[in-house]
Order: sequence, then structure tokens, then C-alpha cells
Amino acid sequence: MISIMDTLTIRTENKFRALITKQTYKKGQIICAIPSENVMDKPNRFTVQIEKDKHAHVGKLAALNHSCDPNVILDTERMLMIARYDIEKGGELSFFYPSTEWEMQAPFICLCGATNCIHVVAGARFLPLSTLEMHYLSPHIREMMIELLNNTELHLKKLQEA
Ligand SMILES: [Zn+2]
Repeated sequence: MISIMDTLTIRTENKFRALITKQTYKKGQIICAIPSENVMDKPNRFTVQIEKDKHAHVGKLAALNHSCDPNVILDTERMLMIARYDIEKGGELSFFYPSTEWEMQAPFICLCGATNCIHVVAGARFLPLSTLEMHYLSPHIREMMIELLNNTELHLKKLQEA
């Protein structure tokens, strides 16, 4: 496996952390394996959701910021971080938090400036399907989305029958 994170460094500015790459990557290239330490059943500000009830501490990758037009993907099926665009040396890495997070413990307002900015970053369950469809999504997010839709359909049916 690719030696983890020697190529990645955390930059701190005014208490804001960012994950910076020390080398260039081509679109589609594997950057590193996603560490999975201290897996918990509840999310916190440092975890990444890797399955329905599993939230992993991800080492240095906890410094990844959110972007609505991100340059990396977290593939939680293969536990790999992959470049979504060509990335230059010294560039900040970011991913789309709702691609892994169903319901975040600490929602925030996004000011990324992307034309498709979702503004409120709280987890996939708070986003319309049309928005989620524009993004790479982890399998557990897809599953929970389908579950939510099925439950809604069932609920509507019950209302009609009542
Ligand atoms: Zn945004």
C-alpha cells in the first residue's frame, strides 16, 4: 500500500486547519489509504462515516475541509482517498462532507463560493436528491437515502389509506 501521508501535511492558520499535498496528483490517482482508527457508533468533528453505524477517526485526514466542488473523493468502500481533479503541489485537499456523512454532529455554513454551493453543510439527509445526484456518494449514503425514500413512500401510502 502507498505509504500513508508522508506526502500530506497539515497547515494551521488562525486555528483553521487544512490538509496540503506536497506533491501533484492526476485526476483518478490514489492519494493514500484512509486510516480507520478508534471506530465509534456516533459521529464527532474528527470522524468520517464509513458505514451506517461506523464513524472512524482518520488520522491526518481529519484536517480535510469541506468543499462543494472538492478535489478529492473518500471511497469508503475501498478505504482510499482519490483525486477528483488534477491537484498541484501545495494545493489544499477537500471533499464533499455529505458524500460520507448522513447527519453531522456539528453543521456549519459553507462559504466555498462554488456555483453549486449547498450553503448549509449538515449531512446528506438534509439535501435534496437532485443535489446529491451531482456528487460521488458512499454506498452507505445511497442505502440510507433509499431507506428514507421508501419510508416516505410508506408514510404517504398510510396517509392515503387513512
Ligand atoms: Zn459550498
